[in-house]
Amino acid sequence: MHHFHYRDGRLHCEDVPLDTIADQVGTPCYVYSTATLTRHYNVLADAFDGSKYLIAYSVKACGNIGVAKTLAGLGAGADVVSGGELYKALHAGIPASRIVFSGVGKTRDELKMALDAGIHQFNVESLPEMERLSQIAADMGKVAPVAFRVNPHVDAGGHANISTGGAEHKFGIAWHEAGTFYQRARDLPGIDPVGVDVHIGSQITDISPMRIAFEKVVTLVKQLRAEGFAISRMDLGGGLGIPYKPTDNPDTPAQYAQMIREVKQGVDIELILEPGRMIAGNAGVMLATVEYVKHRDGRSFVILDSGMNDLMRPALYDAHHEILPLAEADSDTPLETVDIVGPVCESTDRFAKARSMPPLKQDDRIAFMSAGAYGAVLSSQYNARPIAAEVIVNGDVFDVIRRRPTYEEIVALESAPHWLTQQE
Ligand SMILES: *Cc1c(COP(=O)(O)O)cnc(C)c1O
Repeated sequence: MHHFHYRDGRLHCEDVPLDTIADQVGTPCYVYSTATLTRHYNVLADAFDGSKYLIAYSVKACGNIGVAKTLAGLGAGADVVSGGELYKALHAGIPASRIVFSGVGKTRDELKMALDAGIHQFNVESLPEMERLSQIAADMGKVAPVAFRVNPHVDAGGHANISTGGAEHKFGIAWHEAGTFYQRARDLPGIDPVGVDVHIGSQITDISPMRIAFEKVVTLVKQLRAEGFAISRMDLGGGLGIPYKPTDNPDTPAQYAQMIREVKQGVDIELILEPGRMIAGNAGVMLATVEYVKHRDGRSFVILDSGMNDLMRPALYDAHHEILPLAEADSDTPLETVDIVGPVCESTDRFAKARSMPPLKQDDRIAFMSAGAYGAVLSSQYNARPIAAEVIVNGDVFDVIRRRPTYEEIVALESAPHWLTQQE
């Protein structure tokens, strides 16, 4: 479900033609839809209305402040995985009391920063992290609300590189050690074990492994409560998949919410969710312009002004993005088979191989669909290419929420070593 459609032959985001944005802002450029972000957030919020819940938007999926602020306005909290993301979430107006901090490698400075801010919850993933947090919190005279991320040993399916809940993955504490962890936490100063946390992977299109993991979490919560721990929160992570192809038919946010309601039935507990992709994925597209079409050795290459540095998912995980021309093609135009590539000097800088597309020519514009999550956030300045601009649409208006840096800004943080610049 999203708000990108052809109208009068032009691809629109809500009521704004995308070619208007491309003309004014240039390409490559990400465009997000407020209506789509809102709709996805509300599917979850409505499902849990009346119970204690926190939807902590996973900032790492799409961390732009304009997007985070849009979600904050709907009541979202944030799930952050670094000091930088914590800073961004606070800067976007998300209150610390609605922020949870995940990740396996939190540094001392990051833990201090989060304790100072007074965040809602630390999702702790190891014994040394628990000990470090305990010491820092005690030194600061604070108590950290903690959930332990348990590894439920469930294979979530999906791409091997984004599955996190198996025994071989670096994430979480071992299932059979959970009891010992909570015992240990009770004895440590500065730590208040309030919750159980799980996150088994990303782009999970069949929710049945999630159900198995969540049922295990509920069992653990009951067991810990029976042992006298005041477990008041259950954090079920993110990970729901989205359709990337028209033929994809993943379980829906509504089914996911219903499944969670069933699993937590009869358990009085605050529910925390950390959705990223399901909120932002189909709420964003990336616009690009065709620079050249070249024919060689029986292949046709469509060479764009955007590359793997702008949208890395195809190079990183072989990801598929639908690619639509901004000017709608006649339905009777024969399709051509082309490779769609970027300008970066890497063979993996290829968005699509042997893709059937309407004929494309120089200066035509296209949109990569479903690029809202793990798109702009993964971009780099490789080849000294300026990071793509980001735009958000709301009805018939739009605004630039990240402008493209200038070349001066690209070099601004660099300098020659002093021995090359010192005067005689
Ligand atoms: C990445 C991540 C999420 C968000 O995952 P999505 O697949 O984008 O929903 C949530 N929680 C944790 C701990 C994560 O690492």
